[in-house]
Formats: sequence, structure tokens, C-alpha cells
Amino acid sequence: MKVRIVKCPQCNADVPWTPASKWRPFCSERCKLIDLGAWASERYRVSVAEDGEPAPPGEAKLPGS
Ligand SMILES: [Zn+2]
Repeated sequence: MKVRIVKCPQCNADVPWTPASKWRPFCSERCKLIDLGAWASERYRVSVAEDGEPAPPGEAKLPGS
């Protein structure tokens, strides 16, 4: 039975896709936490920016079309 190898999204290490790889697709708990932390802080920044600025007018309907 072939074991599928995936790349850790955080550090690009080879991770065997098996039940033994408990943090897959990450190679370790550390990489998983780093990635989740980065994602969470990114989302936080984006949501703050959305709250602070009005939507760009590009989506508005053009008059007369
Ligand atoms: Zn890793």
C-alpha cells in the first residue's frame, strides 16, 4: 500500500498522509499552530480594514447602462 506524501504548508517538509501523522497536512503541532496563528491574525487585520474603510465604488452600477 502506497503512502501518500504531502508537503507541510508551513515548512515544506514531507509528511506521510497516514493516521500516524496526527498533524497532517502539517509535519508537527508547531507548524499547525504557526499556520493557524498566521491565518487568524490575517483575518483579524482584514476584518479591521473592512470595518474602517467604506467599500470601493467599483461594484456600483454604471448609470445609463
Ligand atoms: Zn512543518
